[in-house]
Amino acid sequence: MSKFKRVLIANRGEIAKRIYNALRDLDITPVIPIVEKEFNQCFTCYPYAKLLKAEDGIFLDKERLIEIAKENECQAIHPGYGFLAENAEFARMCEQNGIIFIGPPANAIELMGHKETARVIAEKSGVSPVPGFSLKGLTEGEILKKAKDIGFPVLIKASLGGGGKGMRRVDKEEELFENIRIARSESREYFASEEIFIEKYIVNPRHIEIQIFSFPGGRTVYLGERECTIQRRHQKIIEESPSPIVDDKLRKEMGEAAVALADTVSYVGAGTVEFIVDRDKNFYFLEMNTRIQVEHPVTEMVYGVDLVKWQIQEAMGLVVNIPQENIKLNGHAIEFRIYAEDPENNFMPSPGKILKYIEPKIPGVRIESAVRDGYEIFPDFDPMIAKVIVFDTNREDCIQKSKRVLNELVVLGVKTNIAFLKSVIEHPAFLKGDIDTGFVEKYRDFLFEKAKQPTLTKEQVALIASLVSSQKKKDAMLDCGDENLLPEVSGWLP
Ligand code: ADP
Repeated sequence: MSKFKRVLIANRGEIAKRIYNALRDLDITPVIPIVEKEFNQCFTCYPYAKLLKAEDGIFLDKERLIEIAKENECQAIHPGYGFLAENAEFARMCEQNGIIFIGPPANAIELMGHKETARVIAEKSGVSPVPGFSLKGLTEGEILKKAKDIGFPVLIKASLGGGGKGMRRVDKEEELFENIRIARSESREYFASEEIFIEKYIVNPRHIEIQIFSFPGGRTVYLGERECTIQRRHQKIIEESPSPIVDDKLRKEMGEAAVALADTVSYVGAGTVEFIVDRDKNFYFLEMNTRIQVEHPVTEMVYGVDLVKWQIQEAMGLVVNIPQENIKLNGHAIEFRIYAEDPENNFMPSPGKILKYIEPKIPGVRIESAVRDGYEIFPDFDPMIAKVIVFDTNREDCIQKSKRVLNELVVLGVKTNIAFLKSVIEHPAFLKGDIDTGFVEKYRDFLFEKAKQPTLTKEQVALIASLVSSQKKKDAMLDCGDENLLPEVSGWLP
């Protein structure tokens, strides 16, 4: 295989910028379709790319993307982590059209994309899935017996589910069949399939995942874990590596389980095996994501690797085959997902124009973002503004530095979750690493109260105020959560 000259990036926002950077490092020209309404605010972000104006919905349009790749002489397509990244049909279409899909083989995507099949593969690989069973061919009596055997509460899941959709918790046996009926119809509606299965609902678990990378020719390495337990609306908001509860022994056990699973499906490239971990540190296979994850940078920081570059090099047939013993953990990294959203309104997106955006320039801090002053977050796009990744020698110092970084990151003009994230890392339970997926719910009062307190000093307020255009300054200060400082701000304004 020869080196790529041009690669199409089939995604937008921070991940498009991330792939752009990896391609430029490899001296490849990125080709990036950008929808009309975003074009003016994005083009300065990619000075060394070929940019194309595209229609709305382009990143869902398989045929059109392949056409664009051909028209622009791209040898490959990188789908980022969007809808098409886990779409076996798209991977096959690329292959049929002589374009390399930067991702695993279509067959592996298909097997892992079906949650029930993935459970069977896990078992075959010697990895325990969460206790559960398929409903196929069972009578109501048999279903009830099996559900009682694993014990309530149970979780009904859609076999083709994803993105937190298609799950129903059932606490009592008399509610089981009503919920099965609803789950079937929801699954039909969202995923065009009635296939559902039942799992034990693990109460207050942790979500810990293993990053793997499979080199061509069947060798897979693991790059430790990511703790992704802090979630809101079933979505991760803070991820860290290493996990505060994983020691060398557990890391090796989970890592080897993930590798066994990847090898069973002849995996190639970057992938993530997700586990749910109970209070006694028993880990159960949850699912495998056959793509690069949003939170991949924390792994890159502590293992000193570039996973996106590896993906591209692997697709070119040029990846260096690295032995497991050369993969060494160093330091601690935490990622914060900065969203334009309103924590007080159930974390709903809060789109709008960013008036002022200032990234703090601090050693050891990596910011992934495609945003700048005047950037508009549109209601129909993901409201992510940036990913802030903080690195330090150990967890304590990393948390300490993170507080400074979140204080000095300036986003004015839209509501954000910055103050909320800061209140999470200030909670004594987080500091101790004593967390579970119910953290945000459990400490709601503390977190919201703390997030309301002004965090800026007079000097910072003055600096920010001087940077904001005069007619917008009042709104901007309100939006940065510092209502209490308004009288002071007015005093400082020119
Ligand atoms: P999706 O593919 O929709 O993201 P997952 O199976 O990855 O669904 O689960 C998403 C989240 O739901 C997990 O991170 C975890 O918080 C919760 N969850 C999933 N399965 C279980 C379970 N059996 N017990 C408790 N929580 C679960």
